[in-house]
Amino acid sequence: MSEPLLTCEEALSRAASHIGGESPRLDAELLLSQVTGWSRTRFRAWPEQALSAQQQAGFDRLVAQRAAGHPVAHLLGEQGFWSLPLAVNDTTLIPRPDTECLVERALSLPLPEDARVLDLGTGTGAIALALASERPAWRVQACDAQPGAVALARANARTLGLTVDVRLSHWFSELPPACFDLVVSNPPYIASNDPHLSEGDVRFEPASALVSGPDGLDDLRLIIARAPDWLESGGWLAVEHGHDQSAAVSGLFAKAGFVAVQTHRDYGGRERLTLGRLDSGTGLTNHSATGDTPHAQ
Ligand code: GLN
Repeated sequence: MSEPLLTCEEALSRAASHIGGESPRLDAELLLSQVTGWSRTRFRAWPEQALSAQQQAGFDRLVAQRAAGHPVAHLLGEQGFWSLPLAVNDTTLIPRPDTECLVERALSLPLPEDARVLDLGTGTGAIALALASERPAWRVQACDAQPGAVALARANARTLGLTVDVRLSHWFSELPPACFDLVVSNPPYIASNDPHLSEGDVRFEPASALVSGPDGLDDLRLIIARAPDWLESGGWLAVEHGHDQSAAVSGLFAKAGFVAVQTHRDYGGRERLTLGRLDSGTGLTNHSATGDTPHAQ
C-alpha cells in the first residue's frame, strides 16, 4: 500500500524524530536538501510543498542510514572546512571544526611570504588546502599513508583549483629531505581502548585516522621526534592532539629541541593543539653544516 505523499515539513519532523542524536532536525534538513536540491531556507518558506514519490523514497533511504549512525558528511559526500567544501568518504577522517583552530594558528605564525609547508597525514587535504587558499604564494606539500586519502586530497585540490603537492607517504618515510618552514599535522591521537571509539561518527571512520597505540601518542611521538630533520632552522611544528595530551606533547616538543612551545584551546575550550619553533641550534641546516644528512625512517 503506497503512503500518501508528505509535505516537506511532515517529512522533516517525521525524520527528525526517527534520527535522534544531537541535531536531528538539522541532519534531516541537510539530507532533504541533498535529495531535492532545495535550500534549507526553502523548507521554512514553503513547508507545505509536497515531495514526489521519488524524493520521498530517496529521503527515507538516507534517513534510515543516518538513524543507523552513518555520519551526515558521508551521506552528503561533503563536509565544509574553513571556507572550503571538501569531498569526503570512508577512507579517511571527516574534517572537524576544531582543526580550523590549527589552520588559524598556522596562519598567524611569522613565516616567509613563500613559505614551504608540509601537512602530514592530510586526509581529505583539509589543512593543506585551507592554508593554500589563504596563502597562494606558500608552497604547500601534503602526504598521507592511505592511497584512498591521497586520491581524495588530490581530487579536492583539483576541484577547488588549489595547488598542493600530495604524496603517498607514511609520515616522513617517502618524503625527500627538505627544509620546511612549517610542518602541520592532525594525526591519529585516540588511545586504542578509548570508549568514545564506539560512539557517533568515529565508528564509521577508519582506525588508521583515529587510533594511535595504548596512550594515543605513538604517531605524535614519531612526528615530533622526526620533524627537526625536515624543518628549516627556526621552522615551526604545529600539531593537533587530544584534550588531555598537552603536557605530554609539550614535553615531546621540548625534548626534540623546540622552543617557544605553546598550547592553544579549541572552540570548546579544550587544550587541542601545540606548536613550537625549532631552536636555531638544531635541525637540517645544522645537520648540513656538519655534513650529516637527514635520513628517512
Ligand atoms: N578529534 C577527533 C575526535 O576525537 C579525532 C581526530 C584525530 O584523531 N585526529 O573525534
